[in-house]
Amino acid sequence: MALIVHKYGGTSMGSTERIRNVAKRVAKWARAGHQMVVVPSAMSGETNRLLGLAKDLAPAKPGDAYSRELDMLAATGEQASSALLAIALQAEGMQSVSYAGWQVPIRTNNAYTKARIESIDDVRVRADLAHGKVVIVTGFQGVDDQGNITTLGRGGSDTSAVAVAAAMKAAECMIYTDVDGVYTTDPRVVADARRLTTVSFEEMLEMASMGSKVLQIRSVEFAGKYRVPLRVLSSFTEWDIDINEEAKSGTLITFEEDEKMEQAVVSGIAFNRDEAKISVMGVPDKPGIAAQILGAVADANIEVDMIIQNLSKDGKTDFSFTVNRGEYAKTVDMLKTKVLPSLGAEEVVGDTKICKVSIVGIGMRSHVGIASRMFRVLSEEGINIQMISTSEIKTSVVIDEKYMELAVRALHKAFDLDQPPS
Ligand code: ADP
Ligand code: ASP
Ligand code: MG
Repeated sequence: MALIVHKYGGTSMGSTERIRNVAKRVAKWARAGHQMVVVPSAMSGETNRLLGLAKDLAPAKPGDAYSRELDMLAATGEQASSALLAIALQAEGMQSVSYAGWQVPIRTNNAYTKARIESIDDVRVRADLAHGKVVIVTGFQGVDDQGNITTLGRGGSDTSAVAVAAAMKAAECMIYTDVDGVYTTDPRVVADARRLTTVSFEEMLEMASMGSKVLQIRSVEFAGKYRVPLRVLSSFTEWDIDINEEAKSGTLITFEEDEKMEQAVVSGIAFNRDEAKISVMGVPDKPGIAAQILGAVADANIEVDMIIQNLSKDGKTDFSFTVNRGEYAKTVDMLKTKVLPSLGAEEVVGDTKICKVSIVGIGMRSHVGIASRMFRVLSEEGINIQMISTSEIKTSVVIDEKYMELAVRALHKAFDLDQPPS
């Protein structure tokens, strides 16, 4: 008998029929003797619907007053799906109880809409498990030290599930979703993407941070920090599939490199359409410029991803970086009003129609020439590279958004990701 955490995403919880199916699957696991904690997302479309209502009433405003209410609002999506799942489990003859984040409590900091989990009190959940109940804990939300409801950022239920699994020292955290595992790239973009039976924690972390939305990045960080065994698998198989078979299905995130069976140089391709590029033109090339520009950006609580400073000509240079697309207007505005005048730079220009495409693989550590092969493939497709960044196990490029699918497909083929590794 083991303590297992299941997480079900929005599509998996998308209708009462699907919730009934989830309940039957969870009941099967509980009847097999496991202690079950289940973390559901809101029903698909619900978070967008709720946030859309807020936007109808008033556009997003900086500051806590508005974002506090967004969290108050969005958290209801998971509260509803959790209660529905508990009801469905009771209908299956199981004892079940659901808790909102604040009831557990799952404590977070007070960064509304992107809060971080600080601690989880497992006393209440453990007591229910000891009484034979299936415990449902809402995904995506927590409570700050003032009692305000917070949410963890889009896709945050993955993080809730892994954090609960870590806090409770669960034997495994199983992330049930609408695909049957982690693929070499998004199977909705490349039809011959291949499912990986295992993926190393480091690769999964890079894939998630480079934009593969199958797992929220913080969930992978949590799994790494607390060594939570983590598996991604399908909620769309028959609920009564053999439990041993189910337990081995999907993709396992592994922590030991030698556990890795599939040794490809490049394991996956990620892409991200959520960024925008900003360039400060004609900056005097002298010490302290990067600190001045990026310091102001950081002070405004805006995260920067890629950075490029060009060679200077006549003592002036251009300085470019990327930010989240949602923060583009705010960043440009801030730079124009606060930084440009004191910097003596010429202008701030930008482009929101960019995307970032990344190749990821542990094998890149021991192989040279992988990045240049990537650049060659893109040039053969006539795709211009605007920015490049590399780390030990990934290479990313920023390109025009309209070439994203072409780039991903060409790279997937060029690195033989459609073929099983030899
Ligand atoms: P959920 O609602 O279950 O959390 P998400 O939509 O957040 O599901 O994540 C699953 C989706 O992630 C898949 O439907 C797929 O389109 C996308 N995805 C992106 N990259 C990958 C990848 N490398 N492997 C599998 N799925 C991926
Ligand atoms: N419901 C939230 C969202 O749509 C959290 C999640 O699904 O993981 O982002
Ligand atoms: Mg998700």
